Amino acid sequence: MSASEQMSSDCLFCKIIAGEIPADIVAETEHTVAFRDINPQAPTHVLVIPRLHEPDIGSLAAADPVAAAALLTDIRAVAKAEGTEDNFRLVFNTGADAQQTVFHCHAHVLAGRQFGWPPG
Ligand code: AMP
Ligand code: ZN
Repeated sequence: MSASEQMSSDCLFCKIIAGEIPADIVAETEHTVAFRDINPQAPTHVLVIPRLHEPDIGSLAAADPVAAAALLTDIRAVAKAEGTEDNFRLVFNTGADAQQTVFHCHAHVLAGRQFGWPPG
């Protein structure tokens, strides 16, 4: 395991991956872990995260394009398992202005209600 694959000791989502903090996990693959958001904003609200600790989707794509591609594949599988493969919103909040609060890359998969545009 390379240094970049080791968990960040003070990262909440690394601790969920390591099983140190409980979560409602819905799927796990070689590259990702998916679990239900603790504060859901829609009837379906699943977070899909890379096992690799990178702060956001841009840095993940730069550090490991295979892991970034696998994230998209696994997002699709999660949406399919939730019965909403063709009808969901995908959000990657990136940076404080976009309201990112956990700095381990994560995709919000939101579905089960009508969404507005533009987003707030
Ligand atoms: P963001 O604001 O894009 O960084 O999203 C972080 C998300 O993580 C928020 O939607 C939180 O509700 C969610 N969250 C924080 N802690 C937990 C946890 N322990 N288990 C599941 N989701 C969490
Ligand atoms: Zn992390």
